[in-house]
Amino acid sequence: MSYQYILVEHPAEGVARISLNRPQLRNAQSKTLLVELNQALVAAEHDETVHVIIIAAIGPHFSSGHDLKAAKIERPNPTVEERWEYEEEHFYEYSLRIHDLKKPTIAQVQGGCIAGGFMIANMCDLIVCSEDAYFWDPVAHSMGTASLEVLVHPWVMSMRKAKEFLFTGRKLGAAEAEAMGMINKVVPFDQLEAQTLELAKMIAMAPPFGIRLVKRSLNRTWDAQGFRVALAAHFDLHQLSHVTKEFQEHLGRGLDSTIKRAKDMSR
Ligand code: ZN
Repeated sequence: MSYQYILVEHPAEGVARISLNRPQLRNAQSKTLLVELNQALVAAEHDETVHVIIIAAIGPHFSSGHDLKAAKIERPNPTVEERWEYEEEHFYEYSLRIHDLKKPTIAQVQGGCIAGGFMIANMCDLIVCSEDAYFWDPVAHSMGTASLEVLVHPWVMSMRKAKEFLFTGRKLGAAEAEAMGMINKVVPFDQLEAQTLELAKMIAMAPPFGIRLVKRSLNRTWDAQGFRVALAAHFDLHQLSHVTKEFQEHLGRGLDSTIKRAKDMSR
């Protein structure tokens, strides 16, 4: 199967690498890209020859997040119901599907890993990033929404750090992200692909069903702590934040203003 915005490769035995392939737009996540990513992941999950899945990205950046410009054209003035449907399927359910994949996943991250990009990378079991990578969720500041659709933040960093990250809207560099345990490994940019693949190959050597059960138990540990309940509750609140006066004011200022606010803030 060939895709428009996704590249599927099998760089080693037992390893599938699924890359976001829309580099001219910094891998902005349009509907097509997300649908294709979901299809490619489901196909890899069902492919018995694949033991480990790498989610990577072509170009200097992992992903700039959701494609807001396309959204403005495709879904200009969504009702609460329409927005809920779209975001529930494409942002919430697709993200949880990555988290739930029966096979181990590794995010391979370089450059900007922003908003919706942060969400996808953090749904993976492991993250390897290059020294230039940075993580950023500016939307509470730039748009007035309650963070992203999936509030994975306090699960991948401490609660205190998650609060700082979201309240300030600042960028998190690779070294700092590694120090707080969010990242498994930081490597030079020119070694990112090779070192991620080495890690994948090591995991791919293990008996796949045993690894599947280990992942199931580890994910259940989070479930026992309320992971899904907390994410579901946040999704509902996030939808509310799309219809606040603050958010309407942001819409009134226009998309360029949103992007500028985010950039100004990051300085
Ligand atoms: Zn949203």
